[in-house]
Amino acid sequence: MPIDPRLPYDANNIFAKILRDELPCSKVYEDEHALAFNDIRPQAPVHVLVIPRGPYVSWDDFTAKAEDAEIAGFMRAVGNVTRQLELDGPGYRLMVNMGRAGHQEVPHLHVHIFGGREFFQMIVD
Ligand code: 5GP
Repeated sequence: MPIDPRLPYDANNIFAKILRDELPCSKVYEDEHALAFNDIRPQAPVHVLVIPRGPYVSWDDFTAKAEDAEIAGFMRAVGNVTRQLELDGPGYRLMVNMGRAGHQEVPHLHVHIFGGREFFQMIVD
């Protein structure tokens, strides 16, 4: 079920629990701004999620409320992850689902990194 992105941040969402080490994850990268881990249901040979450490429901929430340093740090972290995964040569796809129309299911901002193959279609329903 897609989330309502206008609801307040739910500190008990799955990714909040992963950030607090209350749930396990297959960690790929971490720094002061972000954590990256493998998606539990990968949809490509490489499917990694990058999340900010701060409590932001969505891309909309993050870009409206986060400090400039958090935004810059998060963007830099996404780039660091893609280079660590050696996707900068072959290329990759980034995706952020936002709210109902975007079919966002977890109410903590996450950037999907897809890699390991070519993605011919822009949008697949
Ligand atoms: P969304 O549709 O919100 O953009 O994507 C949520 C993503 O989170 C999905 O790709 C789903 O497979 C992934 N996911 C959901 N629960 C967990 C979990 O507990 N651990 C991990 N690693 N990924 C999860």
